[in-house]
Amino acid sequence: MPLFFMMINPLSKIIDLFFPRTCMACGNILMDNNQIICHTCLTGLPYTYFHADNKNLMYKRLSTFIPITSAFSLLYFQKKSIVQEILHQLKYKNHQEIGEFFGKIMANHIKNTMGYIKYDYIIPVPLHPKKMKTRGYNQLSYLCKTLAEELGSICDENLLLKIINNESQTHKNSEERKRNVKDIFQLHGNTKKYENKHLLLIDDVMTTGATLESAAKELLKINNIKLSIATLAMVQ
Ligand SMILES: [Zn+2]
Repeated sequence: MPLFFMMINPLSKIIDLFFPRTCMACGNILMDNNQIICHTCLTGLPYTYFHADNKNLMYKRLSTFIPITSAFSLLYFQKKSIVQEILHQLKYKNHQEIGEFFGKIMANHIKNTMGYIKYDYIIPVPLHPKKMKTRGYNQLSYLCKTLAEELGSICDENLLLKIINNESQTHKNSEERKRNVKDIFQLHGNTKKYENKHLLLIDDVMTTGATLESAAKELLKINNIKLSIATLAMVQ
């Protein structure tokens, strides 16, 4: 490459030339510096548009078990789909920029929900300390921090603890899932400041809703809170 061309070209373009960044969903080379997934994958995302319906499918499912104020999922989840690949990259490959990217999109959708009530605290579903040690990060951290920033809320990763390192929910039926997540969460510290506040519980994907239900039941031990739930994706 001629030197004069390198001089007028932004450094990021030169870095891209040697280490091309690829789409988190399909692996194709990215043309745009600001994206983490390519244009084709971005336009093909299966949005739920739940923000346009506050009695959406997720709300209907969860509110039969727990008294929630609202429920929102950004995308529909299907096996072997681009959504599964994106979540895999976020959860196991430490691509926290995915959390940041989708946090902004989620916040925009949530803000446009009919009857939107501001959240005081944003609470990620926690990892057990043992898992935190082996993985090194909670994949929901950046997503929650971005949501908090965009929605003017406080991201709080200390209120809820995971006290039992339960088995994976994969390959379990609905009843086994419920048993597997019973009493695995615990409130931590003085919960007085959360009383009368609106909390938003966050997870990456909702399958049967058993984990969210278990975490929500623990949060609902706090006096007079409003509780809403949001995920990046949900199984239809
Ligand atoms: Zn792609």
